[in-house]
Amino acid sequence: MAQVVLRDVVKTYGNLYAVNHVSLTVADGEFVALVGPSGCGKTTTLNLVAGLLPISGGDIFIGDRMVTDLDPKDRDIAMVFQNYALYPNKTVFNNLAFPLQMRKQSRDMIDRKVRDAAKVLDITHLLERRPRELSGGQQQRVALGRALVRDPAVFLMDEPLSNLDAKLRVQMRSEIKRFHHNLGATIVYVTHDQLEAVTMADKMAVMHGGLLQQYDAPANVFANPVNTFVASFVGSPAMSLIPVDIVNTGGGTALKGATGWELPLSAMNARKVQGSSDRKAVLGARHSTLKLHKSALPGAIPGKIYSVEPTGDVTFAQILIDGEMVNISLDPSVAIQPDEPVWIEFDQDRMHLFDAQTTMALKAA
Ligand code: ATP
Repeated sequence: MAQVVLRDVVKTYGNLYAVNHVSLTVADGEFVALVGPSGCGKTTTLNLVAGLLPISGGDIFIGDRMVTDLDPKDRDIAMVFQNYALYPNKTVFNNLAFPLQMRKQSRDMIDRKVRDAAKVLDITHLLERRPRELSGGQQQRVALGRALVRDPAVFLMDEPLSNLDAKLRVQMRSEIKRFHHNLGATIVYVTHDQLEAVTMADKMAVMHGGLLQQYDAPANVFANPVNTFVASFVGSPAMSLIPVDIVNTGGGTALKGATGWELPLSAMNARKVQGSSDRKAVLGARHSTLKLHKSALPGAIPGKIYSVEPTGDVTFAQILIDGEMVNISLDPSVAIQPDEPVWIEFDQDRMHLFDAQTTMALKAA
């Protein structure tokens, strides 16, 4: 296995920067998810690593080698795609054996590698079947096996689970995680699904508009999103964001909402908003950090229930505050109705504050 380094990588189509000066290092044995909404540049980034597209600028290294100008076949990578791309007329055994036969490996060696890979992926009992006789999940495991037998320096995976139904996706998520754990493989994995990235990857590279927004362990991205884009992209339900003004109150600092409510800030949060442009900020909060009250309470913000979604062990509600939709999770025993007035208490230690103009997280000076 090997590390992968992207150094100032650029891919342009005319005036469009599909990938805009992206630099990141995937350590040897690390599982990194490239994640972001449609069109953010994640597939283009992966294809540049694979060598499937000519690069416009920057360099790519796999292990100690600069591969920027090498053909895909010379980069020591294996790709796994969303459409498994299996040979329909070959058995599973021959699908796995094919890349090795192309490399003219001995029959004994091929047999051993195919059976080893089949064992890792628990598909030994399927070796004599053809792809059409397999379920979607089994086909995906064969596709992983075909990558595995090649013993590459790096696995590149492009939305490998997106053709599977929801239940199977969850199951395959843990299988790919296991695959990574067992092999200590270096994996670069593209997904639009933040939950896949959060649950599977050691690190996630969040992209938007061709730019790398944040690159860190999922827990750190979740806890400390660098800007409002990352804050609202990572986490489900999404972090709620409310535009506010920053005002001085007798001796302290408060946030003021569009409908006139004021929320006095703790000393730490007051220091954070000191650096905001034009005294305007965005208040962010995750659903699980909010408390709902049915009557007014000092420091709690007034709102109105918009919708209530019981899911069994937790109830999600959407609350309108200043025309913004705020997500909250509640114990199912809490009885609330649409249009009911409520007051929302924010946790000063777990609220997020962003600059309204730059969208960047505000930090205490
Ligand atoms: P998706 O999840 O929809 O595949 P993505 O994040 O993988 O999206 P890319 O496929 O990498 O996004 O595309 C990044 C940007 O580059 C998009 O704006 C896309 O329209 C543009 N793009 C991609 N390929 C081409 C091309 N061959 N010609 C022109 N523009 C392209």
